[in-house]
Amino acid sequence: MSTDADVHASQPPASDGLVMGKDGMAALVDVLIRRGFTVVGPTARDGAIVLAELRSADELPYGWGVELEAGRYRLRERPDGAAFANAAGPQSWKSFLHPVRVREWSADRVEGELVFTADQDTPPRYAFLGVRPCDLRAIAIQDRVLTGGAYRDSGYEGRRSGALLIVVECTEPGATCFCVSMGTGPAAGPGYDLVMTEVVDEDGHRFWMRSGSQEGAEILAELPTRPADPETRETARAGVTAAADRMGRTMPEADLRELMAGTLDAPRWDDVAGRCLTCGNCTMVCPTCFCTTTEDVTDLTGDHAERWRLWDSCFDLDFSQLHGGPVRASSRSRYRQWMTHKLGTWYDQFGSSGCVGCGRCIVWCPVGIDITEEAAALHDWTQSGTSASASAPEPP
Ligand code: SF4
Ligand code: SF4
Repeated sequence: MSTDADVHASQPPASDGLVMGKDGMAALVDVLIRRGFTVVGPTARDGAIVLAELRSADELPYGWGVELEAGRYRLRERPDGAAFANAAGPQSWKSFLHPVRVREWSADRVEGELVFTADQDTPPRYAFLGVRPCDLRAIAIQDRVLTGGAYRDSGYEGRRSGALLIVVECTEPGATCFCVSMGTGPAAGPGYDLVMTEVVDEDGHRFWMRSGSQEGAEILAELPTRPADPETRETARAGVTAAADRMGRTMPEADLRELMAGTLDAPRWDDVAGRCLTCGNCTMVCPTCFCTTTEDVTDLTGDHAERWRLWDSCFDLDFSQLHGGPVRASSRSRYRQWMTHKLGTWYDQFGSSGCVGCGRCIVWCPVGIDITEEAAALHDWTQSGTSASASAPEPP
C-alpha cells in the first residue's frame, strides 16, 4: 500500500519563512488572545505534558522532555530549555474538538408539558499551539469521520471551523513514535495555519516560522521576526530529517490493510488476548478514535432530564451489545476489532488509515501492548507458511 511518508519527508517549505526568537513566543500568545482565541498548548503538570489553556507563553514546558516506552511515561529535564522537544502526551486535540462529555439537550416539565432545550453554547475559538504533525493528520481524519459524510456532527463542526492550528515539527521523537511508517511526520503535512520548527544551538533559541493560511500570515506579520537566515533553515530541516531517522518504532513494510484482512484467524490474537485487560485506555488516548455513547439522566423530582454524549470504547463489553448479548464477548475479538479497524477497515470506511503513528496507545497501555509489535507478529505469521494451513475461522 502506498503511504505518503516520502511526501512528508521531502515536503518543501511554503517559503523561506521568518525567524522568531524565544521571546517572540510571548508575543504570539498575546496576539492570539487579543484576537479572541482561547489558546491551548502543552504545559508540564501532574508528571506529564498536558494540554491546557495558556494565559502566557511562560506556561509552555520549557526544559521538559519525555521518556517513553511501552507502558511507561516519564518527564525528564532538558538542559537546552526547548519548549516542544517532547513527543505526544496523554491527551490529543480531540479532548477539545470532540470532548469526552457533551450535553446534547435538556428537558423540563413545565405546567405538565415537556419543554426540550438543545445545548447550543457558542464554542470558544481555539488556537492550538504546538500541534504535532501526526496530530495534524489525526485532526484531518476526525474531520473526515465527523463532518465528511452524510451525517455531520454539528458540535464538532462548530468547534473545528474556528480553530487555528499552529504546528510544531518534530525534532525529538519518542521511543514509541512511528509517524514515518504511517506517512504523517515528522515534517508537517498540509492543513496548518502556522508551522514552526524549534532550533536551540549556539546561535540561540529560536523558531523557524512559515504560514499556511491568510490568517496565519496576518498573525505572523504581527510578531517580532526577521527574515530566515540559511543557517537557521538548514539546522531546522536537519533536525526534522534526523528525527525521521530516529523513530522508536516502525510498522512492518507490508500492505497493512491486506495484512489485517488476511490474518483474522492468526493464533497471535489469542496471545494478545492473554495480555489485554480490555481497559480501553488505547481508545481513550488515540487521537482518531471517535466512538461515543449516550446517557440520559434525570433529577430526583423527575421534572428535569438531560442527554449526554460520552466517549465510548470498542473494548467495552456493552459496545457490541445486541439482543441476546454482546457480539464481541471475548477480549480476543475486541482487540482484533480495534486493531483491524485502525489499520484495515478504516480504509474501506474513510479512505485512509485510522492510525497516525503517535504511539500513545503503546505508552498508555497498562500492560505495554504495542500495536507495531502485534502487526509485526501477524506479518511474521503470514511469512512463516503456517497461515496457509490455518484452520477454519474461530468464533469471535
Ligand atoms: S491493548 Fe492495552 S490499553 Fe488497550 S484495552 Fe488492552 S490492556 Fe487496555
Ligand atoms: S492506534 Fe495508537 S499509534 Fe495509532 S493513532 Fe491511535 S494511539 Fe496513535
